[in-house]
Amino acid sequence: MRLVDSHCHLDDSQFDADREQVIERARAAGIERLLAIGTGHGPPDLETAIRLADRYAFIYATIGVHPHDASKAAPETFVRMRGLAAHPKVLAIGEIGLDYHYDFSPPETQRQVFEQQLHIAGETGKPIVIHTREAWSDTIALLRQFPARGIMHCFTGGEQQAHEALDLGFHLGFGGVLTFPKADAVRQAARITPDDRLLVETDCPYLAPVPHRGKRNEPAYLLETVRRLAAVRERTPEEIAGLTTRNFERLCF
Ligand SMILES: [Zn+2]
Ligand SMILES: [Zn+2]
Repeated sequence: MRLVDSHCHLDDSQFDADREQVIERARAAGIERLLAIGTGHGPPDLETAIRLADRYAFIYATIGVHPHDASKAAPETFVRMRGLAAHPKVLAIGEIGLDYHYDFSPPETQRQVFEQQLHIAGETGKPIVIHTREAWSDTIALLRQFPARGIMHCFTGGEQQAHEALDLGFHLGFGGVLTFPKADAVRQAARITPDDRLLVETDCPYLAPVPHRGKRNEPAYLLETVRRLAAVRERTPEEIAGLTTRNFERLCF
């Protein structure tokens, strides 16, 4: 099976003790490409995923300021991002967006920083990776104002939100939440998403799928989400792997 994990935080300190083994297990599980998210602990360091991508051929990187870190962004952050976007392994700008659940950065600052990065995506032609939590209508409003293509990562909405994102041209990234017992609405969203808009991700080390729920997540566990998605869509895991891999390649290369 050829798989792409479209969202990983491999730079997280939870992997410090055994990162090499985690990466080896990912390869052994059939993960052919892996998108390392480069938001880290926020600016000024924008290169946390690039450092991994420089070391491993199958790892690719994003650059971006997470909404949690919006207050740490400065004018030079965006200058630096424009430069790093030219790195051959930087595939996308992300994860960017709005998160009103935690108020690590004021909403107004989050919106400004999101908007700045939507401009960078537009200028550089890169897709974006969206993080949105308890901020759906503001996120959609900004995306309508500044059109972009990309991924709604860790999609946890229902059918209505799925249609809104799909109508804007977005891909939906499904992760471990899809396997949670109470996630019927998410499974319904996964059922109605067209074949050519589906992606899978772990968001590791967070949100491990059943039966690893509650433990540290890692790319090798992506298979559990793929199996569940296959059951939901009445397809084989091989078919889901094939189409999500093709979707990733079409979006990012
Ligand atoms: Zn996120
Ligand atoms: Zn993430």
